[in-house]
Amino acid sequence: MNQSFLDTPIEYVKGVGPSRADAFKSELGIYKMSDLLEYYPFRHIDRTVFHTVTSIDSEAFSIQLKGRIVRLKELGTGRATRLSATFQDDTGQIELLWFKGIKWVKPKIKADLEYVIYGKPTQFKGTWNIAHPDLEVASNVEKLEGGRFQAVYSSSEKLGKKGLNSAGISKVLRNAIAQLPANIEETLPESMIASLGFPSRRTAIINMHAPQRIEDYLAALERLKFEELFFLQLVLLRQKLVNTKRTLGARFPKVGELFTDFYQKHLGFELTGAQKRVMKEVRLDVNSGYHMNRLIQGDVGSGKTIVALLAGLLAIDNGYQVCLMAPTEILAQQHYEGFQKMLAELPAKVALLTGSVKTAARRAIHEGLESGEINILIGTHALIEPKVKFKCLGMAIIDEQHRFGVAQRAKLWAKATLPPHVLVMTATPIPRTLAMTMYGDLDISVIDELPPGRKAIKTVHRTDAHRLSVFAFLKDEIKKGRQVYVVYPLIEESQSMDYKDLMDGYESISRSFPMPEYQISILHGKMKPEDKDYEMKRFARGETQLLVATTVIEVGVNVPNASVMVIESTERFGLSQLHQLRGRVGRGAEQSYCILMSGQKLSSDARTRIKTMCDTNDGFKISEVDLELRGPGDIMGTQQSGLMNFKLANLATDQVLLSRARQVAIALIDEDPDLTDPKNSLIAIGLKKALKQRKDWSKIS
Ligand code: ADP
Ligand code: MG
Repeated sequence: MNQSFLDTPIEYVKGVGPSRADAFKSELGIYKMSDLLEYYPFRHIDRTVFHTVTSIDSEAFSIQLKGRIVRLKELGTGRATRLSATFQDDTGQIELLWFKGIKWVKPKIKADLEYVIYGKPTQFKGTWNIAHPDLEVASNVEKLEGGRFQAVYSSSEKLGKKGLNSAGISKVLRNAIAQLPANIEETLPESMIASLGFPSRRTAIINMHAPQRIEDYLAALERLKFEELFFLQLVLLRQKLVNTKRTLGARFPKVGELFTDFYQKHLGFELTGAQKRVMKEVRLDVNSGYHMNRLIQGDVGSGKTIVALLAGLLAIDNGYQVCLMAPTEILAQQHYEGFQKMLAELPAKVALLTGSVKTAARRAIHEGLESGEINILIGTHALIEPKVKFKCLGMAIIDEQHRFGVAQRAKLWAKATLPPHVLVMTATPIPRTLAMTMYGDLDISVIDELPPGRKAIKTVHRTDAHRLSVFAFLKDEIKKGRQVYVVYPLIEESQSMDYKDLMDGYESISRSFPMPEYQISILHGKMKPEDKDYEMKRFARGETQLLVATTVIEVGVNVPNASVMVIESTERFGLSQLHQLRGRVGRGAEQSYCILMSGQKLSSDARTRIKTMCDTNDGFKISEVDLELRGPGDIMGTQQSGLMNFKLANLATDQVLLSRARQVAIALIDEDPDLTDPKNSLIAIGLKKALKQRKDWSKIS
């Protein structure tokens, strides 16, 4: 090891000094040698390969050209100002464009000088151009040190003023690397590096900044990304070990009368293979003597509720109570009605507790819970209030958990002597490897099969210009006895603009679908719970044919006769939300439709979202696209993304490596859970560091 070298303060690194050190610290958070060495370039330019203007045929890659600038002009005014240069090599001409930094670029460009430019060509109306290319005087490029590849670092104006533009940073790094001692600190054990075929850490660092061959760079990148993912997995696995494996839980050894009776006489259909598999996983968990912490991922309509119910019956058969927490009153109500119907002929008592339950009724529920008379409590946040006490809570089922905070889940814990088994259901499927990382402390079950006989929902995109034909289609469907949802975006329930959109929409629909022939329900966040409930019920009973609503109907609502989902201003919805909304139809035997309405002008992301929706009904595929569009940080929310602060790895694109890192971490933890084996001492050090870096990844228990 050579820790003292890595700890060298940045001001003492050759070519830095006090003034540049200040800039390094304030602009890039680089305080010492190790920070500098880990400031990786964002790309390398291969200085040996030149294209020619006439050979450009792809937008896929950045390319290098050598030639002169024969014309330069500023076009447009104000914010639309741009700088256009005509670049010419031996084969032809191409336009270079700058939209920003014109003042800075313009004086740098001289006639009579030969330049090397580097950038990504794009085709516009049949001709090629390059926007914001790197521009170097050719004679300077020939003098560039550092071998064939030129590393490009991101810099800032402040750094640039101190000579630390990309080339300047590159020079400082070359100095640092030249001094790199032979015994630089390793972070992974020798044996692991060898078995994975990775370069040493020293080699990896050198090849990140100054590779001789592109393969060397890629190998270095892989090793360093692996390291990031590996230590993250270790953190999560260790946490899971502490939270789950070592936490005792109630044992449910018995498959009792309630379960058997329901399964044999009242279920009314055969479980799908996926549902059976997940049930098996749950049963193993609850009979292990340890605490269950399981996430069930399943697309909308895959039948998660029935699995939850069966798991609940298992708890009751073994003398425990169950609670089911839903994110909204409407959903809690629906679960309550569903459970009551399914359990009507069985000796299991179900109660509903939401914010709108009156005091007297509430008191009766509290008593029933404490005496043990109530077996299943269904509700919203109301059921985690301290006043709610159970005689013997054995299982907590949480529907659509992304709406529940970690702190709220912790409150549930306080309600039993042994922590209740936890089953979380989510209809926002995400790629498995990512799920393992997001919910590292949960075991994951996947229901990846829909009940038989479902017809795929047909999804189309229509612009506002097609509104008349869309309305005509709705009338046809209504004539056949179907029902229709029309959904408006409402990002924040309080946004009055959105509310106005909804009301305008409602009025226009009322005009096109006049009473008494048509009955319309309306549902939005500003309504009182009783009114929402009333409107929802009218629609569910088939008394109204159209339900005009904001996204309050997003999750879980189940009206099998509704077969058309019209989404207004589709461009304002995220992909997972659209998929959730579409999942409200296609629940009955009829062919269902989803009509995505939008304006003419769409951003390219909105276009991709709409196209994805039209192309597939598969929630997992949709979530992969979502992941690519938004990045994992957004999907996971800020709280968890702190954990994902990688320098190099990317959860969306490095899933294969992520799986590998996880496998290696699992094998390691199996063999040496406390990392006490001397051969794992480096890993123990790395884990400690990773744990320290983790911000407030608050525990669930
Ligand atoms: P989600 O996973 O979206 O919560 P639900 O549990 O609401 O899905 O199930 C959707 C519908 O499918 C319900 O009406 C349910 O009764 C039905 N269902 C569930 N499992 C099966 C099955 N194995 N066979 C037939 N229908 C099923
Ligand atoms: Mg559901």
